[in-house]
Amino acid sequence: MTLVVKCRGFGCIFPSIIQIDQLEYGKTAILEDRIETCPKCGKASTYSTEDYWFQS
Ligand SMILES: [Zn+2]
Repeated sequence: MTLVVKCRGFGCIFPSIIQIDQLEYGKTAILEDRIETCPKCGKASTYSTEDYWFQS
């Protein structure tokens, strides 16, 4: 499973720079104001926990 995020620019789905175990994520992870740069369009934005999900 890959932790992914949806780009705020053009809605591209891309893998997060943060790659943690799904179990650990469910238990403990609170991601706040993480800056991610979309590899497709180059848009850099801040993302929080609700912006992330796991995709196989
Ligand atoms: Zn993008």
